Amino acid sequence: MSARTVVPACNGTAAEAGAAAYNGTSAFPDADADADAQGNAIGGPGQIAVTAVVAGLPLAGLGVAIWLLWGHGVGLSDVLLLAGLYMITGLGLTVGFHRCFTHRSFRAAPALRTVLAVAGSMGFEGSVISWVATHRRHHAFTDRPGDPHSPYRYGTSIGGLLRGLGHAHFGWMWRDDPTPVSRYAPDMEADRAMRVVSAWFPWLCVVSLAIPFGAGWAIGGSLRAALTALVWAGLVRICLLQHVTWSVNSLCHLLGSRPFTTRRFDRATNLWPLALLSFGESWHNMHHSDPACARHGVGPGQVDIAAATIAVFERLGWATDVRWPTAARLDSHRRRTDGAGPDRIRHPDDAQLELAMTPVPR
Ligand SMILES: [Zn+2]
Ligand SMILES: [Zn+2]
Repeated sequence: MSARTVVPACNGTAAEAGAAAYNGTSAFPDADADADAQGNAIGGPGQIAVTAVVAGLPLAGLGVAIWLLWGHGVGLSDVLLLAGLYMITGLGLTVGFHRCFTHRSFRAAPALRTVLAVAGSMGFEGSVISWVATHRRHHAFTDRPGDPHSPYRYGTSIGGLLRGLGHAHFGWMWRDDPTPVSRYAPDMEADRAMRVVSAWFPWLCVVSLAIPFGAGWAIGGSLRAALTALVWAGLVRICLLQHVTWSVNSLCHLLGSRPFTTRRFDRATNLWPLALLSFGESWHNMHHSDPACARHGVGPGQVDIAAATIAVFERLGWATDVRWPTAARLDSHRRRTDGAGPDRIRHPDDAQLELAMTPVPR
């Protein structure tokens, strides 16, 4: 049986039935399909080719960069370009794709919406509409059958978790497991600007590499300067951003603390070492506890650059209706030490599914 026939996760009822039967420790029912899938569980040649380019090219760039670095070092302008473009694409993904488009943590002015969608698309993580649909499905079925990238897919044995970690980080993108946009992101599909930016995704990837190439040429005045900028501020920057994002999917469901309650089986964690590079996204336990909250790092000293950026946008009048946390709301989500376990169900599942899928007019 193919993964598609076993788990039409996106089509609702079968996945919901599988999720309902899940016991929290076994492999997901569809994971068994891997053994006898005879290739069907893996995507077709087109999907594999696109994934290979989108995920493999930046990794190849990292290899070239290490080779360049050997004995030559790296120029200051390359490092500054890398940092600047990492900020722009990273904020496009965290502030735009994640907090604004997926979870509607705030309302962005139309021009800001488009700028965020364009900036995030340059992160080589898929078109904005498909990103939003996949991420909403992750929240609808977190760490249960139907979740597109859970590290618990192959069970909770050591071997299963190691295999699941690879799946959650990187492996899931190669699978034939599409998320229907009509179910998970109809609001995005109804937005003309988002449709246009989505259609331009491949070209925005080209732009994401052309900018450092052009800037390197302008600064250094030579083809060599252009190429080193392309490697460092293009490919290495994208590779770093991708693996930080993917680590939120993999490590931030496996390692770290869980100070806030989440739904049953949802094992999202707060993982401080990734906080700075992920712009605050690694306060992932808090995020899964209250997905629409605009700030994920709510504790003292918990750096959250994406939330700080939203606050600046709010001061400028570009962001409104920001869903900032309140002390009372945080307290109501905090895990209690009176015996209420980590898997205590806070929210009825149906309400969460609705939250993930019902478009709210904005
Ligand atoms: Zn998550
Ligand atoms: Zn989220």
